[in-house]
Amino acid sequence: MSIEKMKIYPINTGWVTLNHATYLYMKGDPSKYVDIPNTCYYVDTGEYKIMVDTGLSDEERATKYHHSCDKRGCPESPDGLRKLGVEPEEIDICIFTHLHWDHCQNMKDFSNARYIASKEEVYWAYNPHPLYYRSYESPVLDITPAYYGCSFEVVEGETTIVPGVSVFPTPGHTLGHMCVSVETKVGTFVIVGDAMLRKDNIEPRESEKWRYWVQARNVHSIEAWKSVEEIDKRADYILTYHDEVDLEHDVYPFEGIQLRKKYERKPGFNFYFSGLPE
Ligand SMILES: [Zn+2]
Repeated sequence: MSIEKMKIYPINTGWVTLNHATYLYMKGDPSKYVDIPNTCYYVDTGEYKIMVDTGLSDEERATKYHHSCDKRGCPESPDGLRKLGVEPEEIDICIFTHLHWDHCQNMKDFSNARYIASKEEVYWAYNPHPLYYRSYESPVLDITPAYYGCSFEVVEGETTIVPGVSVFPTPGHTLGHMCVSVETKVGTFVIVGDAMLRKDNIEPRESEKWRYWVQARNVHSIEAWKSVEEIDKRADYILTYHDEVDLEHDVYPFEGIQLRKKYERKPGFNFYFSGLPE
């Protein structure tokens, strides 16, 4: 692998409307609704072609079963990939941060790919708790999930997928959630899936004295905070699934990119798991 060649391309598969407090920010403003993108990523290592998540369905299915969806002309992931000059059949590996409906549509179109998810995620997708029937598009609700009929290679713990691309566990949003680390010539990019929904979920919540204003849609909020701490320690650059700021560039890394400060201490705000009190 040549680190020089590593490139990451965002593919927005459409917009949905979510409540600020129910999803985007713990103790957010419940009167506020926000349109958010659904951005999967194509990673070209120079040797392997990899998708990280495979995006939304069409508008009708998304709106019928989930949230009000407006594609605003965005393609589904196979067509988004074609626009980058790559056919879905050329993809070697699809890595799934988790298997919620908005992250895995059209995965069968990547017909020659190995499908990789965490062992725990695959378990919960096939055996969803009732509170998550809808998120996993359970057949209990007369929906056929996109992942039915696919066989996964499951991983447990931190795992190298190919040279320069690895995954690490980030439970919280789901119990089997993981993030994808990509080594580039400028540093480590972390594709965070739904461990953070917005880029500023890693910034403080001033009024509550929280070091992180984490997102609100979690199976386990304490684990979710811990996962943000883990991302904070590792990422020179964060790429989100649901924040439009990451659509500002067609490819990462780009010329003149500003890296973030990892695990930055901010006076008055404590880390919880491994930071010392201020
Ligand atoms: Zn999501």
